Amino acid sequence: MEFKKAVFLDRDGTINFDENGYINNPDDFQLFSFSGEAIATLNKMGYLIFIVTNQSGVARNLYKVEDIELVHRKMIKNLEEKGAIINDIFFSPYHKKGEVEPYNVDHEDRKPGLGMFKKALKKYNFNIRKSFMIGDRYADITFGKKAGLTTILVLTGNGEIAFYKKRKDWEYKPDFVVKNLMSAVKLIQWIENK
Ligand SMILES: [Mg+2]
Repeated sequence: MEFKKAVFLDRDGTINFDENGYINNPDDFQLFSFSGEAIATLNKMGYLIFIVTNQSGVARNLYKVEDIELVHRKMIKNLEEKGAIINDIFFSPYHKKGEVEPYNVDHEDRKPGLGMFKKALKKYNFNIRKSFMIGDRYADITFGKKAGLTTILVLTGNGEIAFYKKRKDWEYKPDFVVKNLMSAVKLIQWIENK
């Protein structure tokens, strides 16, 4: 029996532009041109696709959980137009410096905490060693490494600054560093075929 495998995807800076910081309006949400094709390719390869996104803007009173859901509705629609399916979305509204209860706490769901990973594992029971985490921030890499996933840092979003300016301070190193999500998918194809 083939065990299920998964790709965890960060959202902002990994599948969509992250120019203005917090994205709280569907009009401000724009996928990268390659994201639909990249995710559709992973669908065809048999990967479950999970979005794992920190959305501390809720705790910080910048937007509400309902705003995140509107953004995600647009994300799903735009991806479906390219034949790409997201199997589940996990978001963390928490931040300890926030002001909105009950989200103003240090919570395991906030990456690099493993709360969202544990929820996905419990619900889908995939093979961790065959699974990946792709993201543009150090928190994504830390999350993936602590979870036992193969980690891929993309240089879109915050990735370029993170990698070139801050990586000497990193305790956890990404397994791979690639240009963008499409390059990450090609890398996963290569890993599977080698
Ligand atoms: Mg990001």
